[in-house]
Amino acid sequence: MELTANAFGRNARKALLDKTLQEALGRTTGRFLAHRDAAAAAFPEFEATRERASRIKRDVLDHLDTYLARFIEEAEKRGTIVHVARDAGQAREIAARIARDEGVTLAVKSKSMAAEEVSLNEALEGAGVTVVESDLGEFIIQLAGEAPSHIIAPAVHKTREQVSRLFERHLGEPRTDSIPELVGMARRHLRAKFLSAGMGVSGGNFLVADTGSVVLVTNEGNGRMGTALPRVHLAVVGIEKVIPRMADLPTFLRLLPRSASGQTISSYVSIVTGTRRAGDPEGPERMHILLLDCGRSAILEGKYREILKCIRCAACLNTCPVYQSVGGHAYGWVYSGPIGAVLTPLLVGLPEAAALPDASTLCGACADVCPVKIPLPDFLLELRSDARDQGLKTPGEIAAMKGYAGVMKRAGLLEAIERIGGVLGQFFTKGKGIGGLPYPFSGWTERRDFPAPAAQPFRKLWKIRRGVTR
Ligand code: SF4
Repeated sequence: MELTANAFGRNARKALLDKTLQEALGRTTGRFLAHRDAAAAAFPEFEATRERASRIKRDVLDHLDTYLARFIEEAEKRGTIVHVARDAGQAREIAARIARDEGVTLAVKSKSMAAEEVSLNEALEGAGVTVVESDLGEFIIQLAGEAPSHIIAPAVHKTREQVSRLFERHLGEPRTDSIPELVGMARRHLRAKFLSAGMGVSGGNFLVADTGSVVLVTNEGNGRMGTALPRVHLAVVGIEKVIPRMADLPTFLRLLPRSASGQTISSYVSIVTGTRRAGDPEGPERMHILLLDCGRSAILEGKYREILKCIRCAACLNTCPVYQSVGGHAYGWVYSGPIGAVLTPLLVGLPEAAALPDASTLCGACADVCPVKIPLPDFLLELRSDARDQGLKTPGEIAAMKGYAGVMKRAGLLEAIERIGGVLGQFFTKGKGIGGLPYPFSGWTERRDFPAPAAQPFRKLWKIRRGVTR
């Protein structure tokens, strides 16, 4: 997938002008968030479960080598072939080799951000495999030739009219604005693919170390069909997805659907443990797990290691005012929203994505909802300071931040500026918003007025209210 993270500003401006996208974002992110909040409120142990999940994940990071070794041993005992890819290039080579060796020409794939990260589809197509996305959202964006714009709802930016036009053009289906009819069309088309595919490709939400299982949490059943029907199953999963024990799984299953979509439990939880055994009615004859390092070991060694606790629930996207305004494509790579603003620079290198840590208001909403308590705003700030240390900030930006910090550290100076600003502002604007600021502040007023400075600054009003006369 092409990386355009440093074009965030340009991408975001385009997204803000896209009316259809704005409507779709307003509709979906708000709904996900409301459902998440209601589900968290209805589950009295939600906070305690967050604490437990965070603790388990921290233990995983402290002993990742041990848990991974155990996972590989248990998976191999059950007939699974485990591969480890150091980087995206190696992951593509391994996947292509598996497809060639297994004689696969058609693969059905369920949603996997890890597979997106290494451009797995291109590798398989290069090996002569037709890859059909089987998650409805992924299927839609594959027809549109686009990338996912949300972790759990990849086609969140598409309207039903756009989907119907795509189905008409690519599948020869009649136009309709009925969602059940559109789903029926996709289902009819995909059923035939499930039955004839030689390989099912999936991601994995969790890898269970003490049983060697891959756990898939889905709502559409495509993950289950894709892992049970084809002769070969290839699961592509990041190494950080391991959890120590099957007994830990319920903790995460209580958090993931609630945080993602507000569901108490997702429609399907599939636990895939090894190949089909004698007497099993279904399951793959051959199973491969491709574990991705792809920069994760390096992250584990550094100050951002807790980002590897992420369970990809997307709650931080739904609650983020920046994501809500610009959607996923503006972030210019696989991961978007606050998790993308931290993870992308760590995976692709800060110089390639230095614009992303600035794509945040630092309001803290992401940390409030993160089910595994990742300190996202702290990481965003830290990345900004790394960008300065690596010479990725302009002298103007550095001078402006130094000036800002200098004022904010001196209460008396801040108060004086507020007082003078209030008087001058009221005099020149007569209390109305400022329609146009000069460069370098002109970006602020491109699409909205800058509020006139208040006649009485907040701190003064606060003092008056509290009866402080000075
Ligand atoms: S950072 Fe937290 S909230 Fe965001 S996707 Fe990951 S687990 Fe979910």
